[in-house]
Amino acid sequence: MKGLSITLLLLHFFFLPQQQFSQEKPKLVVGIVIDQLRYDYLTRLEKHFLPAKKNSGGFNRLIKNGANLTEAHYTFSNTLTAVGHQTFLSGVNPSRSGIIANDWYAREIKREMYCVSDSTVQAVGIAPEKSAGKMSPKNALVENLCDALKRDSPTSKVIGIALKDRGAILPAGKRADAAYWFDTESGNWITSTYYRATLPDWLNQFNGKKLPESYLGKSWTRLLPEKNYTNIDNAPGEGTLLGESEPVFPHKVFDLRTAADNPLFKRNKLYDPIPATPFGSELTLELAKAAIQGEALGQRGVTDILTVSISTVDYCGHIFGYESHEAQDLVIRLDRQLDDFFKFIDKKIGFENCLFVLTADHGVAPIPEQTVGGLRLYEKPFLDSLKAAVDTLYPNVIEAFTNSEVYLNQKEIAEKKYELGEVEKFVGLMGMHLNGIVDYYTRQELLYLKEVLEFDSVGTMVLNSFHPARSGDVKLVLKENAFFSYRQTGTTHGTHYRYDTHVPILFCGKGIRRGTFSQKSAVIDIAPTLHKLLGLNAPLRYDGRILTEILR
Ligand SMILES: [Zn+2]
Repeated sequence: MKGLSITLLLLHFFFLPQQQFSQEKPKLVVGIVIDQLRYDYLTRLEKHFLPAKKNSGGFNRLIKNGANLTEAHYTFSNTLTAVGHQTFLSGVNPSRSGIIANDWYAREIKREMYCVSDSTVQAVGIAPEKSAGKMSPKNALVENLCDALKRDSPTSKVIGIALKDRGAILPAGKRADAAYWFDTESGNWITSTYYRATLPDWLNQFNGKKLPESYLGKSWTRLLPEKNYTNIDNAPGEGTLLGESEPVFPHKVFDLRTAADNPLFKRNKLYDPIPATPFGSELTLELAKAAIQGEALGQRGVTDILTVSISTVDYCGHIFGYESHEAQDLVIRLDRQLDDFFKFIDKKIGFENCLFVLTADHGVAPIPEQTVGGLRLYEKPFLDSLKAAVDTLYPNVIEAFTNSEVYLNQKEIAEKKYELGEVEKFVGLMGMHLNGIVDYYTRQELLYLKEVLEFDSVGTMVLNSFHPARSGDVKLVLKENAFFSYRQTGTTHGTHYRYDTHVPILFCGKGIRRGTFSQKSAVIDIAPTLHKLLGLNAPLRYDGRILTEILR
C-alpha cells in the first residue's frame, strides 16, 4: 500500500503537466489571434486536443498551465477582422481607434476605404506598385501595447505575422519593426515600405523554399476517424472550396495551373486556395518559427513581441460554417501545429521564459439554412427596397450602405433644407419595415444621448463602434441569426450577438495564475493586463481593465 502511494507520488511529480515560469520579465510575448475562433471551439473539440504534458500540448498547454477566461467578449457591435485585431493589443474600442470595420465609406473620397490601405507606401517583396503591398497601420488613430514597449525599450523588436494583411499589421502597432503577410499571387510573404525598404535575408530564404507551391494539389483528409466529428459532412448551406463541387472530404488544394484555360477561374490567383486549408496554418507557423530564428526574438536580453494571427479558421469557417467537418478538422490540426510551434519555442527560448496570450478577433453566426430563424440577406436588393421607401419622403438622401450603416448625403439634405434628425429617424423606421431589421440608432442619438445609451446594452455596443468621422448616420440592427451575405452559402459575423462576441482569452506565463475564470472579461482588457505584466511606463489610456483575478 505504502509502495503504491510512493509510486503515485512519483508519478505525480514525473507527469505533473505544470510548467514552472521564470520570475524575470518575459523574453518573448507571443500574441496569438485565431481568426473566427468562437469560444465554443475550445469546449466542443477539447476531447480531441492533445493532452497537456510537461513539454507538449497545443491549446491544452496554454489552458492547463495558464488562465482560461471563459466569459470573454467584445464590447462593440462591429465584430469584424480588422476591428478585433486592432482591439487585441490596443485595449480600446473602435470609437477611439477609428478602425470601425474592414472597409468603411469615406465621405471625403466618396468610396470605401480599406482598413490598412495606404497609397503613400510601396510593396516590398513583390513589385513596388502592387496594391497587395500598399498597406500600413496609418488608419489606426491610437498607439498600442507594442508601441508602449517600443517607447520604453527601443531595442525590443515587434513583428506581426498573418496570411491577411490586416491580421499582421494591426496587432503589431504603429512602431513595429515589421508586419509580414501572404501575397496569393506570388506566394511570397511581403511587407511595405512603411516598415522596411527590403525583406530581411531570412525571409528571402524562407520565400525561396517555395512552401506554398508544395501545397498545390495536396489532399486534405480528416486527421481522426469520421465518427469523431459532429454534424454531417455535407450539411445544408455549406459552400465549396475553389475548384470543388461538393463540400465533402477528401479535399484537394486546387492547382489553378491545371485549369489555366477555364474562364471560371480567370480572376483567381495561384495561391488563393491555400488560406482555407490547414496548409495555410502550417505555412503561417513555419514563418513564425523562421522569424524567431532569423530575428533572434526572445534571445537578445530584452522583451520582444511576436504577434501571429491564424487566418485559416476564418476562411474555412466562412465557407463551411463552424460546425462543419472541415472547420473541426482545421482546428484539431491547428492544435497539433501549435504543439509543434510551442516545442520550437521550448528549444529556442524556453516556453517558461515566454508570456502567451491567445484570443480570436470575433466569433461567427451559424449557417442560416441550419438554424431556426436564420436569415440570409443580400445588400443590393435590401438597399434598393430601403431607397424606394425613403425616397417617398426624402428623395436621393442615401449615399452609401455598408456594415449595416446608412451614410446620408449631407449636401443634399442641407440643400433641400430637410431636418437632419428627422431624415435619420425616417431612414431607421423604413429600415425596420424590412425583413431582418429589428432596431436602429441614429447619429444624433449616438452623439447626444450617450448617457441614455449607457443603460441600453445594444446601444452601448453600437456607441463603442461609432466613430463620428468614419461611421454612418443610421446603424440598422440585424435580427439574431440574420446577416448580409455575399454568397448563397456559408456564414459570416459582424453583429453584437453572443455568437459573434464570445471568444477565448488564454493567458499563460510569468505572473499568471492557473485556473478557469468565469467572471465577465473583455478583449479590451488584454492590453492593460499585459501593460501591467510587462511593467511598462509609457502612458496609454485603455478602455479595458487590468484582469487582476488572473494575476499572481
Ligand atoms: Zn476575422
